[in-house]
Amino acid sequence: LPDIEEAAEAKGSKQTALSEFTSKELLKKYGLPVTGGAIAASEAEAVAIAGRTGYPLVMKIESTDILHKSDVGGVVLNIDNEKAAVEAYRRILANAKKNAPNAKINGVLIQEMAPKGLEMIVGVNNDPQFGPVILCGLGGIFVEIFKDVALYPAPLNKNEALKMLASLEAYPLLTGARGQKVLDVDALADAIVTISKYAADNKNTVSQVDINPLLVYPKGEGVRAVDALVINK
Ligand code: ADP
Ligand code: MG
Repeated sequence: LPDIEEAAEAKGSKQTALSEFTSKELLKKYGLPVTGGAIAASEAEAVAIAGRTGYPLVMKIESTDILHKSDVGGVVLNIDNEKAAVEAYRRILANAKKNAPNAKINGVLIQEMAPKGLEMIVGVNNDPQFGPVILCGLGGIFVEIFKDVALYPAPLNKNEALKMLASLEAYPLLTGARGQKVLDVDALADAIVTISKYAADNKNTVSQVDINPLLVYPKGEGVRAVDALVINK
């Protein structure tokens, strides 16, 4: 299973990671549903953006030098009032300063808190030999312990994306096994096609794409990328 950061290091330090905000802007243009948000560069801006966004909301460190934001205390979920927003803003910057002292910080990304959904991973690794290869699987223990992922060369069409999903051990979780809700497999397949198209169209510049997680909602309610990381060559 390709680890984005290790692979990026292995290929040399010339690769440039884009921030979550920038990565999502690019994928949104292709039609991927994302929690976009806005970047606050001061406490006053954070309060203004939070007011516009509405509560509950999420704040995250925005830096191209921090690829795993949670690891440095750079993600605060479920912020539900202005006082908590100001506290989170301060805490995130303090955590970054302490845990990633050399990182260049662009600000704090503020976005809506997405409702709970099934957490999937969709990634692309642009292999020097094979070209862009798309990966999908359920997040969490499914990917880490069971290595339950499907791989396919990009770009792919919707039927191929649906076949990828059907090949997962965990596929029944998407289709309503054991009284679970039937999830929006259709929107998930569309998202896989969109991400594969982005990677294929930009294969001369893009090295990796990592959507972790893509939240999948009940049938008819779509999907949402709440995190995104694009790494360019
Ligand atoms: P990291 O860089 O550590 O991967 P993420 O942006 O993925 O940071 O955030 C960590 C976790 O927080 C995600 O896996 C997801 O469960 C949750 N999360 C992040 N953003 C949102 C959001 N906007 N709405 C709801 N949950 C979110
Ligand atoms: Mg993530």
